[in-house]
Amino acid sequence: MAAANTPDFNKVLYAPLAEIDPEVQNIIDKETWRQFSGLELIASENLTSRATIEANGSILTNKYSEGLPSARYYGGNEYIDELEILCRKRALEAFNLDPAKWGVNVQPYSGSTANFAALTALIQPQDRLMGLGLPDGGHLTHGYYTAKKKMTASSIYFQSFPYALDPSTQLIDYAGLAAQAKIFKPRLIICGASAYPRDWDYASLKATADKEGAYLMADIAHTSGLIAAQTLNNPFEYCDVVTTTTHKTLRGPRAGLIFFRKDGPGREDLEKRVNDAVFPACQGGPHNNTIAAVATALLQVAQPSFKTYAKQVIANAQTLASSLMAHGYKLQTGGTDNHLVLWDLRPIGLTGSKVEKVCDLLGITINKNAVSGDASAQTPGGIRLGTAAITSRNMTEEDVKVVADFLHRAVQLSLVLQKEAGSKLLKDFIRVATTESDELQGAQQVKVLRRDVVEFARKWPLPGADVSTLQKPAGIEEEF
Ligand SMILES: *Cc1c(COP(=O)(O)O)cnc(C)c1O
Repeated sequence: MAAANTPDFNKVLYAPLAEIDPEVQNIIDKETWRQFSGLELIASENLTSRATIEANGSILTNKYSEGLPSARYYGGNEYIDELEILCRKRALEAFNLDPAKWGVNVQPYSGSTANFAALTALIQPQDRLMGLGLPDGGHLTHGYYTAKKKMTASSIYFQSFPYALDPSTQLIDYAGLAAQAKIFKPRLIICGASAYPRDWDYASLKATADKEGAYLMADIAHTSGLIAAQTLNNPFEYCDVVTTTTHKTLRGPRAGLIFFRKDGPGREDLEKRVNDAVFPACQGGPHNNTIAAVATALLQVAQPSFKTYAKQVIANAQTLASSLMAHGYKLQTGGTDNHLVLWDLRPIGLTGSKVEKVCDLLGITINKNAVSGDASAQTPGGIRLGTAAITSRNMTEEDVKVVADFLHRAVQLSLVLQKEAGSKLLKDFIRVATTESDELQGAQQVKVLRRDVVEFARKWPLPGADVSTLQKPAGIEEEF
């Protein structure tokens, strides 16, 4: 509340958002309603906790704290120091790491900035690195480039060379990677992916890295929650540096972490190199509100219930995979070990773009994704699905079968729409999918299926919102 003597120029500082800025409040309300009414199957998304959201929206956002605990460039950081030390301790605990052997920097703003800082720490400009190619499920920040363009800082400032999947198994081609590394002589090998449904053989990667004198870095952005829960292989046994986002399976706020090894030949100074790379090389002041939220999320990760959550995420992904395969659909690698499923739509004559579009109209959020052997990166032949978010809304195997049935209907409906479009063009497809005309059957079916999806989705709670009092906000047009 503003004090009685607050001057006019400061009165805005005390007004609630809904009062001072109904426009932004309405956008937040619409987005809350969308999250409540839809099925979130984007594999990189999750629903963070109420406590995390509270910490993220806290007054800690006011504070500058460049530097590290006890070595700051500004005063007034006694509580921020306490926070950052707590967050680091919880990060090591969440991943069962010995503080004598591992350290962590909790300041990265997000996964991409964490990765660039890690590259800055590990190798010199123009040094060679290898990462899984983007079309094979790798991430942009692992050295992606095209024939025409160096796309990301990881290929602009370093020489990169991608390794690939074995096309016959769609698994990482470890032997091929070893053979390429022998010729290319990378200083750094990056493992980890954004669209790979199987676990990694870190021991094999470590053998190759050692042979060629390279560092080994794992970017576990997607699977970090599952690794913390010890449901997947442990990259910390073999890697020099491990980076992650905190907002995917780890279920925290949007941020990044860099873990570094503190011992071993040539690794003694990694702590200083990583810390110097984050600040001042790549970032400025840490986002302390986010660090508080990361700490809160990591507290949750270390609890036994998180292990149960992670196991359920995987059981749900495996149920999703087997339900889709029971309908005769083709999945890359024929299943999953983790939270995601890559669905190859080419055998039924659809593209990822069309199915993504139809699902969007239905309130099911997914993304188009390249599948192994795709001829063109412009028209990916598959979609990527993940179960982290729906598991956070309490869904278990029986509910996932309902979700799989919605997806089956969505894909069959896409075939009807493609036929009605009379061409293979996406714009014709969208036109028939969204037409108000009663003559086309597909658009009618879109409406029916949308109602079924929304009715199902609204049965579930949404962390961070009280759905019992949630009202449809102004500006949303829908009949139900
Ligand atoms: C999501 C992701 C990132 C990037 O994270 P941002 O927070 O979006 O910058 C990096 N690496 C991998 C493997 C990812 O999946």
